[in-house]
Amino acid sequence: MRLSLADVMHARKAISGVAARTPLVPSPDMSARLGHEFLLKLEITQPTGAFKLRGAVNAVSVLAGEFAGVTCCSTGNHGRAVAFAARACGLKAVVCMSSLVPQAKVAGIRALGAEVRIVGRSQDEAHAESRRLAREQGLVEISPFDDPLVIAGQGTIGLELLEDRPDLEAILVPLSGGGLAAGVALAAKAIKPSIRIIGITMDRGAAMYHSIRAGRPVEVEEVASLADSLGGGIGLENRLSFSLCRDLLDDCVLVTEDEIYDAMQTLYFEDRMVAEGASVVGIAAMKTGRLPRFGGAVATIITGRNVDMSSFTDVIAGRGVQLDEIQVKGRTYAA
Ligand SMILES: *Cc1c(COP(=O)(O)O)cnc(C)c1O
Repeated sequence: MRLSLADVMHARKAISGVAARTPLVPSPDMSARLGHEFLLKLEITQPTGAFKLRGAVNAVSVLAGEFAGVTCCSTGNHGRAVAFAARACGLKAVVCMSSLVPQAKVAGIRALGAEVRIVGRSQDEAHAESRRLAREQGLVEISPFDDPLVIAGQGTIGLELLEDRPDLEAILVPLSGGGLAAGVALAAKAIKPSIRIIGITMDRGAAMYHSIRAGRPVEVEEVASLADSLGGGIGLENRLSFSLCRDLLDDCVLVTEDEIYDAMQTLYFEDRMVAEGASVVGIAAMKTGRLPRFGGAVATIITGRNVDMSSFTDVIAGRGVQLDEIQVKGRTYAA
């Protein structure tokens, strides 16, 4: 299976009118801090609050009509996107999630009329359930990241970024299963081969990072994180997102929970935005100096806003957050 810019162009037509073309705005605070322009691509303005709507709408629009309904596993945002897309096409949707998924996300999916199944404590267990449903109930399973239609849909972000700012030097992409990074890299590099695409993820349970280093998909332990949307493995039988990320990403960088905490505060206090931990890893990586110096404009994707409000308000108030076995220390924001 080879994906190309044409697939992304096709996806753009398929999703227009349902998924939004999102704004790209400057972050004055980060730009001043870094000495070059730093821009935010606001996927938090999607109708479902996260970019995953793009891939889900593209996949469901192609598959609608061929199946009785759709199923998926999800850390929350993909499930919400699939539920939204299925409802728009009049299809049944069953979303399988682990007990690590925040309640706010579960409620959001149910509100869209989808059936929710909570199974086990990992994405792998949720995935086994969605596979079983696909087999036994004639539903089509839509992977959150390892599907050509999903990757092409996420790639439309790369098109929009370079249309708005052809001069971009780099794009910092929050990385989990790699559907977003693969799609954005594929589209952006097809248009501008010199652009650097850097994947950023949390240091605990970084499946794609360790897989790229090992040269093959590997399993990592799944743990609670402020960046809950970045949790989960990439699948030992990964078909597409692993090889695309391995071949197209220029670098892959890790950030800690404390750094994510700090970046959530920065985005809130300086840019006045509410976003998930997963959304701010690009800001965290820049603030900690873990990336090379850039000379020109750099953008990061603010991927989603579907935070659990009680942990978000803890972060903003500077209170500590308990994540399973680790404690993220509280810290009052200092401008
Ligand atoms: C899914 C998700 C990501 C990561 O996307 P992948 O395609 O799995 O790498 C990042 N941020 C948010 C908010 C997400 O929901």
